[in-house]
Amino acid sequence: MIMSKKITCCICAVKMMEEDSNSAYPINEVGRCCDECNYMKVIPARLNQIKQSEIKGIVEDIYGKRVSHYNSEWDWLTSNTNK
Ligand SMILES: [Zn+2]
Repeated sequence: MIMSKKITCCICAVKMMEEDSNSAYPINEVGRCCDECNYMKVIPARLNQIKQSEIKGIVEDIYGKRVSHYNSEWDWLTSNTNK
């Protein structure tokens, strides 16, 4: 039998059963949060993080790795964006 314990949401401080809680990462590295905070805050923050790292990866693909082989293209790109 699972012993359920009451814990506090680390974001809005509502009381909930531990098995109903969610990981609050990246809002809170170690805390647990309620369903509402999970949907309203934690999941959007997580999506945002994924989006940012994806964009960073794409930018590195285009302007990082390729640029090391095509320096003239990098010069062209930077000279055009600075205008
Ligand atoms: Zn909450």
